Amino acid sequence: MIQLHHLEKSFGRLEVLRGIDVAFDQPGITAVLGPNGSGKSTLLKSILGMVLPSAGQITFQGKPIDQQGAYRKDISYLPQIARFPENLRVAELIRMIESFRSQPSRSAELIRHFGLESVQQSQLGHLSGGTRQKVNLVLTLMYDTPVIILDEPTAGLDPVALVKLKELIIQARSEGKILLITTHIMSLVEELADRVVFLLEGRIYFDGKPETLKERVQEPNLEKAIASLLSGGHLTPISTTRPVQAKMNGKVIHATIKS
Ligand code: ADP
Ligand code: MG
Repeated sequence: MIQLHHLEKSFGRLEVLRGIDVAFDQPGITAVLGPNGSGKSTLLKSILGMVLPSAGQITFQGKPIDQQGAYRKDISYLPQIARFPENLRVAELIRMIESFRSQPSRSAELIRHFGLESVQQSQLGHLSGGTRQKVNLVLTLMYDTPVIILDEPTAGLDPVALVKLKELIIQARSEGKILLITTHIMSLVEELADRVVFLLEGRIYFDGKPETLKERVQEPNLEKAIASLLSGGHLTPISTTRPVQAKMNGKVIHATIKS
């Protein structure tokens, strides 16, 4: 469904993504992990077309995303930092978004799920961080899409809301959706993730099952396994291929090299 081919992204002289080759085409939950600044949000925003790659390509259902716009309606996206019009009321914002789309919305069900009934008439600027995040989740999850991308969905959530979020994630997986999630809550990853993609300084250092990661570094839990990865010893990026072109006898030769 989603394929990244040697994706690179620099902001000025800062190389944030340095050759990412990865595919997200199996249903299930992929946790994109890595320390702050490792490029997780940039990677996810690239898939949405919100960040333009410096090199490489992203395809959605086999077609480059820069040659299509409509693919975004197939992706539900929760940004890490959501900006709302502060003076709008919760219900007004939901209605406004619903007015853009003809697809049926499950906002009422999600409002009940997160217990937000009493804040529907509150202005967004008056909400606590956790409540804003719940509203953000309602807005993200109210449409049925084959792909769900959640950038730090757990930020600011209390334990009850976290359980509610987990229920929605598990439900989405059971419906055969592709989920990409970043979070710093390793217990959530341990509990939910079918696959872990570990990023560091813009490269992928691990891509596989959480159990495989734990076995590789001989650590019984994921938090320790990640710490062990970061403390060195196990750190080599998985090989990536890079398309190259060369001219030989006047002919252009296309090839891929491993780096
Ligand atoms: P993560 O989500 O893993 O914490 P990000 O993808 O947000 O990491 O950021 C990776 C690096 O790219 C950081 O050093 C960040 O400051 C930088 N960065 C992200 N977006 C921009 C931008 N629009 N302009 C300049 N630098 C950016
Ligand atoms: Mg981020």
